[in-house]
Amino acid sequence: MSSAPTPARLLTREDCAALDAQPCRLANARSAFAAGAPGTIYLDGNSIGPMPADAPARLASLLESGWRRERRLGWNDPDWLDHPRSLGAAVAHLIGAAPEDLLVCDTTSVNLYKLLRLALAVASPRRVVVAERSVFPTNRYVAEGIVHAGFADLVSIDSVDQLTAVLTGNDVAAVTLSHVDYRSSVRLDMAELTALIHRHGATVVWDLSHSAGAVAVDLCGSDADFAVASGYKYLCGGPGAPALLYVHPRWQQAAWPAICGWMGHLDTFAFAPEYAPAPGVARHLAGTPAVIANAAWRAAADIWRGVDPQAMDLRHQSLSDTLVDLLDQQCGSLGIEVSSPREHRRRGGHVAVRLTAPAADVDALGEALIAAGVIVSTRKPDALRFGIHPLTTTHVELWEAVQRLRKILG
Ligand SMILES: *Cc1c(COP(=O)(O)O)cnc(C)c1O
Repeated sequence: MSSAPTPARLLTREDCAALDAQPCRLANARSAFAAGAPGTIYLDGNSIGPMPADAPARLASLLESGWRRERRLGWNDPDWLDHPRSLGAAVAHLIGAAPEDLLVCDTTSVNLYKLLRLALAVASPRRVVVAERSVFPTNRYVAEGIVHAGFADLVSIDSVDQLTAVLTGNDVAAVTLSHVDYRSSVRLDMAELTALIHRHGATVVWDLSHSAGAVAVDLCGSDADFAVASGYKYLCGGPGAPALLYVHPRWQQAAWPAICGWMGHLDTFAFAPEYAPAPGVARHLAGTPAVIANAAWRAAADIWRGVDPQAMDLRHQSLSDTLVDLLDQQCGSLGIEVSSPREHRRRGGHVAVRLTAPAADVDALGEALIAAGVIVSTRKPDALRFGIHPLTTTHVELWEAVQRLRKILG
């Protein structure tokens, strides 16, 4: 939200083409994805990530042999039940997790519920949960529901600046935080905040939905306790794809899961009459994996397996810094301003702008951009989001998108 710096010189389309032509370890990644609608520039990987090119073939093959022909015998393919673990292992390096500490299952909302309940269980008798007030709604709702059911007491904060005061005055069990704000794209300092929370004897649940698969995340290096992330945003698992669930090893044996299902049982196919939790993170599997959804997820996971997270972060930085400069230079005097932080390490996957005129309608501008072939998203009250995908977005696309925006504003 700092004021726009004066750029050294105007960026040209040729500059953007030169940036795209620079040697980059992710050079082949774009070709692993299918093109979108002709003429469109896709800047909404923060809502639904682009489709891996071979996802349709994988789904067709699963439906044909796994369902139509084999019917129940498809279950004899051991892969299906292993997907939650193997998909997690394929993307663990992107978020600084050990492969065995991560699962792909259920939704972000359900996984948040499971982990907040776990955080409460390991902190008992402490029962205060600290949650952000103005956060992605489901995160807030899940915390409220746990309180409503009598499992916890809620303390709300407007900003992490209030954390020290809140942690000092209460016996806090757990804090739930969005690593990146879904509107402003403000990225929190995971290591610093985790250390602060630990000093007060509490644990933290991080939501990585707007950072995983876009920018650097280091769960192990930050000593984070728990984390979730959406599977269908930057990670490209497909619409409605199951979500990530991470538990630090120190908490994996500490309590039963909030939902005790057969897939999290010590020996699922023993059909034992009583529950016994599986060792490790696997106990947080509740029911049968989403086999069809996971076939699409697998296509994305096979791409991510070969992606160097540092190269991903550098590419994202180059793209999003370029976008910020272009927006300043081309549209800065046309009634918009970049509302996201200007420093890449303080920013998540998208760049947000807002309209400077008091009653300006951000949704109308978003619709005009979509009509002009620039696929963006808006979030009330004032955020227009340009989601940047490190594997598919190009600098020239950003240049072109800003030209179309300029035309609309002009
Ligand atoms: C997208 C998103 C979700 C989505 O939750 P689902 O239960 O998977 O629909 C949750 N939290 C945040 C911060 C998100 O950005």
